[in-house]
Amino acid sequence: MNVLSFGGGVNSTAMLAGILERNDAQLIPALILFADTGGEKPETYAHLELMSAWVTKHLGLSAGITVVREERFTLEQECLSAKTLPSIVTAMRSCSDKFKIRPQNRFMSKWKPALDAWDAGHKVTKLVGFDAGEPWRAKDYSDHKYTVRFPLIEWGWGRDECIAAIERAAIPVPPKSSCFFCPEMREQEIVELERDHPDLLDRALAIERNAKAGKLVRIAGLARTHSWEQVINFHRDQVLLDGTTLLAPRAERTPCVCFDGE
Ligand code: SF4
Repeated sequence: MNVLSFGGGVNSTAMLAGILERNDAQLIPALILFADTGGEKPETYAHLELMSAWVTKHLGLSAGITVVREERFTLEQECLSAKTLPSIVTAMRSCSDKFKIRPQNRFMSKWKPALDAWDAGHKVTKLVGFDAGEPWRAKDYSDHKYTVRFPLIEWGWGRDECIAAIERAAIPVPPKSSCFFCPEMREQEIVELERDHPDLLDRALAIERNAKAGKLVRIAGLARTHSWEQVINFHRDQVLLDGTTLLAPRAERTPCVCFDGE
């Protein structure tokens, strides 16, 4: 029995398109989970809705994509009430752990088909959408309950192949999914957030200001060495967007479950 973790981005969409295209019955998921932090952009929620109908139509999942979440509060609400930023800002992953992984684990701990499989001594197979361009993420996460498979890597699909598969399936290629206040966003993405979703940028800046008035230490803001406010002001001051950047390029990113193709 397969359970697929849908992140709302290119990789997990390509994984679904590939399962249908390759007609691989062994990979058809019995359950697809999307963990909602409450902070995705509207395009991602629209894509989730579209794909939920798509999996019902093409893969026969009558429930569509099942949305799970931390029921008590969203990540944005937690940041505001604790006067802090998402923990990924300090390279910790507790934001994705609390708002992505744990809600899925909680759901699985009550999902009868999985309980029956475990009672019978079987494992459930988790399908994870890491692609062939990021093989370092595909560690052996299998344990006594789960076998973990990475279909995109098995198929040798990198980002280009993923996008091509989505287009062959006549699915709109989704934008990158992440919280709109994610500290892992690139400088250009912050500028685009102001252009496309000024309301969401205002909410991200409110999180940042609130944290700076609280217990933020050694971190300037959502961009770590700088605040997003500085990033936005820097780009407003540019007469031309000529590619000049404020932030130094990141030496490395902190991979987390939220990255779903970019
Ligand atoms: S998208 Fe970013 S802020 Fe949101 S849970 Fe993932 S790492 Fe944390």
